[in-house]
Formats: sequence, C-alpha cells, structure tokens
Amino acid sequence: MNIDAMKRQLEKRLSVLSIEARAIDVELHEPGNPDFEERAVEIEGEEILEGLGKVALDEIGQIKSALIRIDLGTYGVCVVCGEDISDARLDAVPYAAECIKCAG
Ligand SMILES: [Zn+2]
Repeated sequence: MNIDAMKRQLEKRLSVLSIEARAIDVELHEPGNPDFEERAVEIEGEEILEGLGKVALDEIGQIKSALIRIDLGTYGVCVVCGEDISDARLDAVPYAAECIKCAG
C-alpha cells in the first residue's frame, strides 16, 4: 500500500466533501419562501439536503481521523483487534478504521 498516495486521495476527497457540506449549509440557511405551498416543497427538499449534509459530515469526520492515523503511523491497522486491514478493504473504504471482520 502506498500511504502517500492514500493520503493524497483522502485529502482530495476531504476537500470535495467540505465544499459539498458548505454548499448544503448555505442552501439550508437561505430564507424560506413566504408562499405556504412552495415553502412546503422547500422544506421537503431541505430535509433531503440535511440528510446529505449529515452523510457528508460523517465522512469528513472519518477521513479526518484516517489522516490523523496516517500521521501517527497507525493507518491500515484495525483499531479494534490490531490486525492489518486488507489492501482490498482500504481500496474500497480508504478511511476504514476497522478490518472487515470487526466492521462486519
Ligand atoms: Zn479487526
């Protein structure tokens, strides 16, 4: 596993997600439509956006801790059992903190 490449990949994903989360936040803080029916449609859209925002924030948090583990030299080691996390799993989930057994 190339840790530098992994770090770059994580940092890239982090900046994309940060922009996304900020865009969602801006959208959610726009003043509501005064028309009741249009406002109802807006609220529905906002709930979806809020959900997306939560997913993005969650991933941001996981990526940040993965970057900390890279700095600490513990990246790629399962935080639960201490075994190495397989390259295949890290390819699929670069911020994985647990091996497939512990995550499962
Ligand atoms: Zn494990």
